[in-house]
Amino acid sequence: MRTVYLSGGKNVESLVLYDQPVPVPSRGEVRVRMLAHTLNHIDLWVLSGSPAYSVSLPHVMGSEGVGVVDALGEGIAPEFSLEVGASVALSPGQGCLVCELCRSGLESLCPSYRVLGGHIQGVFSEYVCLPASRLLPVPPSIDPLQASAVTLAGATAHQGLVVRGGARPGERWLVVGASGGVGHLACLLASVLRLEVYGTYGPEKKKEILARFMNIPLVSHDAAEWPEQLLKLSGKPFDGVLDTVGGATIPKILPLLRKGGRAVIIGETTGAPTQFLTRELFGRQLSLHGVYLAHRSDILAMLGWVAGGNIRPIVDDVGPLTSIAPLQRAYKRMLERDFVGKLGFTWQ
Ligand SMILES: [Zn+2]
Repeated sequence: MRTVYLSGGKNVESLVLYDQPVPVPSRGEVRVRMLAHTLNHIDLWVLSGSPAYSVSLPHVMGSEGVGVVDALGEGIAPEFSLEVGASVALSPGQGCLVCELCRSGLESLCPSYRVLGGHIQGVFSEYVCLPASRLLPVPPSIDPLQASAVTLAGATAHQGLVVRGGARPGERWLVVGASGGVGHLACLLASVLRLEVYGTYGPEKKKEILARFMNIPLVSHDAAEWPEQLLKLSGKPFDGVLDTVGGATIPKILPLLRKGGRAVIIGETTGAPTQFLTRELFGRQLSLHGVYLAHRSDILAMLGWVAGGNIRPIVDDVGPLTSIAPLQRAYKRMLERDFVGKLGFTWQ
């Protein structure tokens, strides 16, 4: 079977497609024949040698994937209802499953929370063996690439917008970085939830692509006056902002919020902020939420929206992965920000 390894260095050129025997599931494990995977910004942190994801080499890449149950190890509890042939998604984040936080469904708050492909070995392989508790059922009607796109990025959008942000129908929300993996799914989810949603994007060429998938007001955050442009379009300050870009945008989003508004920060893909407006925060009684991945309930909620045809993730299929070259090109596109939505691949 083919497996994507990072080997010999931490850069795109050090990715290899390695052929190895199909693994045998241990006790309590399920072997999944993977159908589709999607790429995530975490992959780029790993490829750049970020201390936040200091993996040792060789390292199997990838956090997101969907497949079908291929074999069951011994001793799998009947409560998992897993059968050979069932469609399943891999839960990208893994808590200990025994602490109080994990047992109450808040596994991303678990002290030993780890991310597949980020802190531990990943899942970009034709076959993956994982404990049964790490799998989630996928309605068979969903395209595997679309299902994969919501296991991490989509679930994070749900956690940020709905769970932590507390977005309610009729509220006015801004998604900073609407063209990215989490950002575009947050916009699509916001529309389904009947929010009045606005989005920002980077390079101008992304606007036309985004406009094909979502009918929302869009402004480029590369323009110097983008906060003023947004307020002119909306006519009022925002109830909430979901910022997927972080860094330089954070000082600019707080003044866009109404008194008592909420800001949800889910990343810093452009680096750490150079200043922070504490007076904005306390003076106008804003709430600031940090979100890192999501819980199983977020993944299931998003799979439900996709299965119902309410949300259709944007996924550019760069596969099938018969050589490593398409994946290397895809990561280079991510590094150059030359994509919209998600990039993914299949094994066929
Ligand atoms: Zn735990």
